[in-house]
Amino acid sequence: MTEDHFTAVLDSEADAGRRVRFWLRDDDAIEPTPALTELTELAGRYAAPITLAVIPRDTGAELAGFLDGLVESCPGISIAVHGWSHENHAGLLEKKQELGAHRSSHVVVGELRQGFAKLRGLHPTRFVPMLVPPWNRIATSVIKELPVLGFTALSTFGQEKTAPIAMLNTHVDIIDWHGTRGGRPAGTLFSETAQRISAARGRDEATIGILTHHLVHDAAAWHFLDRLFALTSAHPGAEWVGADQLIRSVRH
Ligand SMILES: [Zn+2]
Repeated sequence: MTEDHFTAVLDSEADAGRRVRFWLRDDDAIEPTPALTELTELAGRYAAPITLAVIPRDTGAELAGFLDGLVESCPGISIAVHGWSHENHAGLLEKKQELGAHRSSHVVVGELRQGFAKLRGLHPTRFVPMLVPPWNRIATSVIKELPVLGFTALSTFGQEKTAPIAMLNTHVDIIDWHGTRGGRPAGTLFSETAQRISAARGRDEATIGILTHHLVHDAAAWHFLDRLFALTSAHPGAEWVGADQLIRSVRH
């Protein structure tokens, strides 16, 4: 899909008095890196809020200090809990999982409690009680414990399922994990995004989660993000929202 076609889809939403809500979830941050600087500069340029899913075990004051320094240039940064260690506990032939049923839920829940407390302590003003399971996978037995831990939102990938807390998923993954491991073609990504807008049409609010991984972005990935922000950030049929705003607005 060309950019013109994508803009036409947004135009028709605006004409119908609707506004598509976009949110960006970027996974795997631990510490400041040139790629994280690039991401925050890009988001800041378009005044777009972003949500960083941070790996609790390995992060610390360095990231918090870096983000404190961006309060003016990139003010809308939220921090979500990306598992605990991002270690795989699944078997060799299984899909990777940290929060699966491979360990006792007592152990898994204990780690999540630690991760929640650590990130809230490091990022008191940016923290949102949202769990982002590594590899977007989590056992039902663990989901059940999330309200007790204080989580009010769960974010994976794809169509939202029923859960005891709000599901705020991502729907468009900009990386080609099984092929180039770089950015997917922009035309495909605009097309997927437009399809999601069409699928949500008729509901009160269409929300589209864009999934990014700053540490592996190549030129194509950065270019798509730049174009997406450029086409949407000032469009009357689109709005970028932060995780805090989403959590407040979503009923479950
Ligand atoms: Zn991850």
